[in-house]
This record gives sequence, C-alpha cells and structure tokens, in this order.
Amino acid sequence: MDDSAQPAEHFDVLIVGAGISGIGGAHHLQEQCPGRSFVVLEAQEGFGGTWRTHRYPGIRSDSDLYTFGYRFKPWVGPPIATAPEILKYMEEVIAEDGLDRHIRYGHRIVSARWDSATARWSIEAARGDGGVARFTAGFLWMCQGYYRHDQGYTPDWPGMERFGGRIVHPQTWPEDLDYAGKRVVVIGSGATAATIVPAMADTAAHVTMLQRSPTFFRTGRNAIEIADELRTLGINEDWIHEIVRRKILFEQARFIDRTQREPEAVKAELLTEVRRHLGPDYDVATHFTPRYRPWQQRLAFIPDADLFRGIAQGRASVVTDEIEAFTETGLTLKSGTTLEADIIVTATGFHLSVLGDIDIAIDGEPLVFGETVTYRGMMFTGVPNMAWVFGYLRASWTLRADMVADFVCRLLNHMQARQARQVEVALRPEDAGMPLGPWIDPEEFSSGYVARGQHVLPKRGDKPEWRHMHDYWSEKDAIPAIDLDDPAFVYR
Ligand SMILES: Cc1cc2nc3c(=O)[nH]c(=O)nc-3n(C[C@H](O)[C@H](O)[C@H](O)COP(=O)(O)OP(=O)(O)OC[C@H]3O[C@@H](n4cnc5c(N)ncnc54)[C@H](O)[C@@H]3O)c2cc1C
Repeated sequence: MDDSAQPAEHFDVLIVGAGISGIGGAHHLQEQCPGRSFVVLEAQEGFGGTWRTHRYPGIRSDSDLYTFGYRFKPWVGPPIATAPEILKYMEEVIAEDGLDRHIRYGHRIVSARWDSATARWSIEAARGDGGVARFTAGFLWMCQGYYRHDQGYTPDWPGMERFGGRIVHPQTWPEDLDYAGKRVVVIGSGATAATIVPAMADTAAHVTMLQRSPTFFRTGRNAIEIADELRTLGINEDWIHEIVRRKILFEQARFIDRTQREPEAVKAELLTEVRRHLGPDYDVATHFTPRYRPWQQRLAFIPDADLFRGIAQGRASVVTDEIEAFTETGLTLKSGTTLEADIIVTATGFHLSVLGDIDIAIDGEPLVFGETVTYRGMMFTGVPNMAWVFGYLRASWTLRADMVADFVCRLLNHMQARQARQVEVALRPEDAGMPLGPWIDPEEFSSGYVARGQHVLPKRGDKPEWRHMHDYWSEKDAIPAIDLDDPAFVYR
C-alpha cells in the first residue's frame, strides 16, 4: 500500500516500544508533562515487549516484581512472577492511565531522520498491514530494549541441518510443540535454560541441560515474609510496596558489596546452597562452579529451587561439555560423549539490537552509534532530542526505567522553560582527552550478547557523567541531581 501522499502526524514526544520501559515512560510523561502530545509506536501487535515475546514453558522473571514493577504501582503477588502475571500488571497500568489511545501496535519504526532546521524527527514505520505510517516528533524516547524480538541468537554448529528432531529457540517458541515423553536437550546455562529445564521436566521423558560453562544461582522461597506479615496486619499496598522495595534494595546493596569485597566467601555460600539441594555426591565442582566472580554475570534466582529438585529427582540432568556437531539423532560432544534427543532447545541468548535496528540520520548524516559517547547511559553526543532507557544488569531494569523517565520529563519541562527546541549533550572543555572505553566494562559484566555487540554500542568515559554506572545505589541520588544547565547540555 502506498501511503506516500499521507501527511505525517506530529507529536511532541514519540516513544519507541510498548514494553515495561515504554509503558512506564508514557505513564510518567502523562503525569509529569501534562499537555504534551505523545504516541507510543510498537512493532508487535500488543504490549509487553520481553513478556509478550517469550512464551517458553515456565517463563518468569528472574528478579523480584517489587523492584521490577513500577515505583508507582504496587505489586501484590509473589515476588517472582510469570509472564502472564507481568502482562496483567502492565495491562492494569494501561487501563488505569488510559494509555491505550496513545499506543499504535503493528508499527515497526524503520527510519528516523533528525533535521536541526525544524528541530524535528521524521519517522517512518512499517505497519502490520503492509502500509507505511509517517510521523514527526520533537523528542524520541527510545524504549526498544536491547535485543531483536523476532529472532534469538543461535550459534552455527556443524551438522544442524542433519538433525531429525526439532530445534527450537526460546524466543520463538512454537505453540504446537509437544514434548510429553520426549528426550529434550536444552543448550545453555542462563536464567532461561534454568527456567525451561524444570518446566519441561514435568512431562518430558528427560531433560538434559547442556552447558559449556556453569552459572551461579540463588535459591529461596518465592515469597517475602515481611510483605505477607504486613498484609496480615491490613497495611495498605502502597506502603507494602515501598517497604518491601526498600528492604530488597538494602539487602541487594549489601550482597553486591560482599561480592566485591569477599567474592570467595560469597561463592562458597552459593555453592553450599547448591550442595544442600543436590546432595554430597553430586559433582558441584564441574556443573555449578563458574569461572567468573559472583555477579560478574546476572545472578538468577531459582524459586523453590525447582531446577535443583528436578536434577535431584533424576528428571533432569546437567552435562558440562562442548558441542562437536549435531547428528541425525542428537549431539556429539567434544569429550566424545553423545546425547540423544528428540527436541533441542537453544537457550543461547539474544541478537543485540541497537536502537531498534532503526536507520537513523542526523541532518543527512547516518548515525554511527558506536562512535558516540554516552551521557549517563541515557543520551549520546551528537544525537539531539533523544534518550534511551537501558536498565540495570545487577538490579531490576525498571528501577532505572522509572529514573530515566523522571530525567526525560524534567529535561522536556526545562526545554520548555528555556524555550529551547533542541538539546544535545557534548563533551565539555574539562572532558578533553578523557579516556573512552566500551559501553560496559567486560571486567564488570561478561555476558555473551554484550561482548558480541560492544563495537556497535556507544562509548563511555571515566567520569560518572559519561557512563552508565550500573549502580542503582549511586544513580538514585545522582540522576535526580543532574544540573540541566551544566555545559554538558547544549540547547538551541
Ligand atoms: C526471558 C527474559 C527474562 C528477563 N527477566 C528479567 C528480570 O526478571 N528482571 C530484569 O530486570 N530484567 C529482566 N530481563 C531483561 C528485560 O529484557 C528487561 O528487564 C525489560 O523487560 C526490558 O524492557 P524494555 O521495555 O526496555 O524492552 P523490551 O521488553 O525489549 O521491549 C521493547 C519493545 O520495543 C519494541 N521495538 C523494538 N524495536 C522497535 C522498532 N524499531 N519499532 C517499534 N517497536 C520496536 C519491541 O517489539 C518490544 O515490544 C529479562 C529478559 C528476558 C529476555
């Protein structure tokens, strides 16, 4: 359908994506910048982002919903939530705030062009019905996440085409997949694999988790005692939400501090927990003792230790080895072992997607995102009127989505007060010669998808202003205190 004659619709703010960040952004914008026109464009046919895309068995959060939930809407369920529970929570926010009328589903943004003369972005979106929709906007609020939603990352192993069973990626889970009584191999060791393995083990003949290297896990009850107690006392949910958030954040801060000060002691505690579930004879050294320090990769929480219970009961097992090749009936491993399988699940991660794979140009010049320097992981040198929500790796994503939203709203109001149409961040004289490094320090965080994509991500400097600190506890004070008249902000 040719829509080239259609005039572009204009909005003050255009939010990209209706995941947890985009819906939160719309809430804050409506509340903190009343009267500002806005639209949320979402490629998929519904809201939810990550929680809509992933439909594999057992899909659940790996952090608690008191902090993964928004600051402004109490979470009233068990801390670890399923995708349907998270979607219901988001649906309530959309309904309570009347956001539906601002969201356009089935709109995948393909290009965004900034023009300094008009101080506007021109945006083109491919619609689900094959048409093209055009928009102009004063500000782009990027809530598109960090990975491609339509396809997960699967390494290219020799012989994959020979395999006679089904190969499935968790991100594109086939609705018709029947695994009852089947032999399943799940490749991977992260939170996704750790969720899928016990969930499939309930009905599969056997599930093998095949990992190249082990991961740290924490286990515990899927409940927060103080929340249950306060509920029994009839305390209102707003208070419970705030108290439980503070308690969780306090304990996390202490834990993270310990992982840095005494990593060996923390490691010993985590492994003791695993041994307690798997018994003294289990080879914890091979299968559950990672090579990295605790918290150098995301530390997943396993509610009620279901993964370990599955292993202890013999319904699931772990093999730590490397794949040599796929065969007609399974896998051969570098050690010479073979694994027979009817279904192979590749829980091998994401394709990093930078800025939603949108083709972006600034005044006619293509944006080379990897050459920009980030202002606190929210804005980028040379990119006017744009902010990106990138949450935390060691704390709930939404803690930062709420904070970035406060910052964007404050910035928009500040621009209005200054009668500025354009804002851009720029290195100041005192930043000249500042050493620049990759977006995320690999020493600090070493996940595969980050390592694969560092070259296309913005650079960071060595001052807090010029990096994403990945530290909620310092940013919770620093971001609200940002001086918008600092010379790092250039207004026109
Ligand atoms: C299985 C899984 C479990 C996770 N569990 C946790 C957890 O427990 N705690 C935690 O903190 N983090 C978790 N994460 C990380 C998680 O992705 C984020 O916390 C959070 O959901 C990201 O939200 P978001 O809205 O920023 O991005 P997303 O959820 O990725 O949503 C982005 C949305 O933008 C849309 N979009 C992208 N590009 C375009 C475009 N060009 N045009 C239009 N729309 C576009 C996408 O379709 C998508 O709907 C998990 C991730 C996965 C994959």
